[in-house]
Amino acid sequence: MATNLSADAISWREKYLEALDAQEQVERDAQQQQRSLRRALVQLSLLVDGQDSALDNFLDQLRAALRNEAEAVPDHLLTQLDQTVRAADGQQDQFDADVLRELTRLASGLRSLGLTGGLKRELDHYLTRLPARAQKIGLYPALLDQLAELQERALEELRAPRPGLFQRLRGASAAPQFASEGLLEELGEVLQRLLDAVDTEYVAPESLQELRERITSDVLLNDLPAILAQSRDLLKQAWLAANEVFAQYLDQVNAELAEIAGVLGGAVAQETARNSAQSDFQNALEMNCQSLEGQVVDARDLQQLKQQVSTQLSQIRSALADFRAAERQDEGLVGQLTTLAERVALMERDAEANRAKLKEQRHKALHDPLTQLPNREAYEERVRHETQRWQRYGHPLSLAVCDIDHFKQINDRFGHQAGDRVLKVLSQAIEKRLREVDFIGRFGGEEFIILMPETGAAEAHKALDAIRDAIASTSFHYRKEPLTVTLCMGVAEFQQGDTPEKVFGRADRALYEAKAAGRNRTCLG
Ligand code: GH3
Ligand code: MG
Ligand code: MG
Repeated sequence: MATNLSADAISWREKYLEALDAQEQVERDAQQQQRSLRRALVQLSLLVDGQDSALDNFLDQLRAALRNEAEAVPDHLLTQLDQTVRAADGQQDQFDADVLRELTRLASGLRSLGLTGGLKRELDHYLTRLPARAQKIGLYPALLDQLAELQERALEELRAPRPGLFQRLRGASAAPQFASEGLLEELGEVLQRLLDAVDTEYVAPESLQELRERITSDVLLNDLPAILAQSRDLLKQAWLAANEVFAQYLDQVNAELAEIAGVLGGAVAQETARNSAQSDFQNALEMNCQSLEGQVVDARDLQQLKQQVSTQLSQIRSALADFRAAERQDEGLVGQLTTLAERVALMERDAEANRAKLKEQRHKALHDPLTQLPNREAYEERVRHETQRWQRYGHPLSLAVCDIDHFKQINDRFGHQAGDRVLKVLSQAIEKRLREVDFIGRFGGEEFIILMPETGAAEAHKALDAIRDAIASTSFHYRKEPLTVTLCMGVAEFQQGDTPEKVFGRADRALYEAKAAGRNRTCLG
């Protein structure tokens, strides 16, 4: 039959078979493409995995459906997937905002630590770019890396020893540490100048060195009051010592001037007496000469003698004239000596006035104007002196700190003026009950400090407690209102190896024990 088929029919059949082949090829390609797509989708879904639990759940189902090539992906799964992806998107936005906030907080916190200019600028740069960069989740690792690196460098810088106040003043580059850095620097400069001016002859070199070290190390604002007080004490100490030396020098000059004046005064008196005696002698001698000449002229028979005597007399006369001229010169000298003596007397009076002025200044510098008691500077001087004596002779020495009880209430109830009056009267009351060799000074506010040489702790406690008792039983009056004042005392004795500061510390603790135990008492430290 085939041989009977027309050429036309054969060509149709060929075409049909070719079309069939082409159809099959298309289907094979489509399936191949679908498999590739499913694989790609599975891989993509794995990439997104782990970001959201609801999404993960759908991704699992989606992957299962995609792997089953025979089945089409169910529609409801695709709709739910779409919704979940949208919800996860919203959460991602929130997450981005949280990340941005946290990174900003961390970087700003670092920036406020007071770092060097370079690191601070890098942090500024980081912070400026953060909002744009934090929108891309892929940049998170890099952003975190960058921040970790900045943080590490910042910590390193903060851990590194900082240059001291003065090094910083001298231009060493360092980060400003505090908002008040400028103020600290200015203060440092002033202190440096002041300490440079302190003559090391007049202060203990260890004290000066210790203070310098405190200023050269890191200074915190909290330390400033103590540093300033220490500087003030040191400078005052140096000033007082220098003042004392100058006063001694003036005393010496004064004594020397007095001696010169005495010698000159005596010389002038002697010279004047000698002059008047000489002048008498001269007059007498001249009269004698004149009469002698007359007599010689009358005696004509003794021509030769006449000649000789006459010659001698003229010689005496010329000698006398010479003597007169010399005497006039002496008179000038006496005049000069008198002027000099007057000048010396004037200098002596000036020196005396200066000495008195210095004494007055020294008194002012060492006394409290309200109570007229020695002040803290005077205490420092005295305690140094007593400590040296104690070290040299080993005799007992006690120190007491005394504080008025509830003094604030006295001020509040009767006024500040009454408080001042109480301070005056009370300090006199204590002072008059102490021995001449004891020292009492106003330490500050309503606190006093007492030094008792040659006195052990038990004896000092007994004496001071008696004073406390006497004060407590005295009734003060202010504008006719009776007013009882009590006080607390803390006593401590110098022990082997002690410094005044240590003994003061023990006495001060004892004082606060006395306060804690109910006030109006004396405790031993
Ligand atoms: P305490 O028993 O604990 O010592 O109490 P207190 O009130 O005495 O102590 P506080 O330290 O609280 O108060 C001391 C008061 O002394 C406060 C201050 O106003 C006052 N004061 C310090 N110096 C003077 C001064 O020169 N004159 C007067 N009138 N008051 C002063
Ligand atoms: Mg007090
Ligand atoms: Mg008090």
